Amino acid sequence: MTRRQFAVSSLASATVLRAQPRSVRGRLTQTESKPSSLTLSDGKSVALEGDGQTTGVLGDPRLAGADFEVLGSFLPSGVFRIDPIHKRAVFVHKDGKRLYVTYWCAVCAIRTYTPGQCWCCQDDTALDLREKLDVD
Ligand SMILES: [Zn+2]
Repeated sequence: MTRRQFAVSSLASATVLRAQPRSVRGRLTQTESKPSSLTLSDGKSVALEGDGQTTGVLGDPRLAGADFEVLGSFLPSGVFRIDPIHKRAVFVHKDGKRLYVTYWCAVCAIRTYTPGQCWCCQDDTALDLREKLDVD
């Protein structure tokens, strides 16, 4: 490895360090035209982005104004990118508890992680905030 390559790779690892997962907590603020954002306790607003299923959760009207926490990292643009849905990076704080956001079809006993219809019976799933996740 040349000195120059070494310098470049040190720079790359510094970038990785800065991009380590972080969490942001605030009020989930939904607007029609823009992606959902979090309003922090100091009044600052953090724009959120995530994958399709995560975006579905952010846009769920049942969660509007919720005390929300997301895990992910800030992009250089200042937008907070939430970790992919399978990492379960979205939480609601309620009654002093940190709850996972899940959706439940009681008819089929099927749990999903984004709002919508049950893939089995096509019924609307219910919002189900849970302290623990079943092993899946
Ligand atoms: Zn169902």
